Amino acid sequence: MPNEEQINLFDWHEPQTTAANVTVEPEEISSNSQTPIPAGFYDTLDQLTAHCQQCQRCDLAPSRTHVVVSRGNPQAPLLIIGEGPGQQEDETGLPFVGRAGQLLDKILASVKLDSQRDTYICNIVKCRPPGNRTPTSEESAACKPYLLEQIRLVNPKIILLTGATAVRGVTGDKRGITKIRGQWLTWHNYLCMPILHPAYLLRNPSPEPGKPKWLMWQDIQAVRAKLDELSNPA
Ligand code: SF4
Repeated sequence: MPNEEQINLFDWHEPQTTAANVTVEPEEISSNSQTPIPAGFYDTLDQLTAHCQQCQRCDLAPSRTHVVVSRGNPQAPLLIIGEGPGQQEDETGLPFVGRAGQLLDKILASVKLDSQRDTYICNIVKCRPPGNRTPTSEESAACKPYLLEQIRLVNPKIILLTGATAVRGVTGDKRGITKIRGQWLTWHNYLCMPILHPAYLLRNPSPEPGKPKWLMWQDIQAVRAKLDELSNPA
């Protein structure tokens, strides 16, 4: 055997987990959290949504009323990620529609962003944790492949991570949200901005400088400026 052929025998690459070389049955995906969802598995967000609707991958499935996948524009430049559905979201099947969601819409409107036109909104977990508790790491991990596919298919210019659970669930960064809010992060080539969760602002409504509401105003202005910069490069 020629030398070159022998050496080529030592070429070994990690198998890529892509839709092209992994055979997974759709029904396995939605019933077994151990079944990976390969990157590129879904061609459309509608396919992904259909799978989520029947998903039993984690313990949140039995108590949900609706699976809450997304609202907004799948071509939006801004993708917003929250923690998980609350009661109103569970009842309606739409994320961020309760008081915190209404405040989020106002925050966006303050810099002339429309939540239906300019954003695509989703959560770390798509089913409501009982009593609005924080999702467990197992629940977040079971649901994360859907989120990764949403991010890939929307392919936003900027990702807003609302609150510590969203930051941890996406990037793995466990720092407190008050420490990292307002700082740009790069995660897999995506520009991400951690911000305070709107529900936190509802509990802390003071507009004084340095308070949560004032901090949010600084952050959302920075996001708007960056979006303008990315949309109209000099
Ligand atoms: S939270 Fe996610 S992984 Fe768990 S059952 Fe709902 S859709 Fe499936």
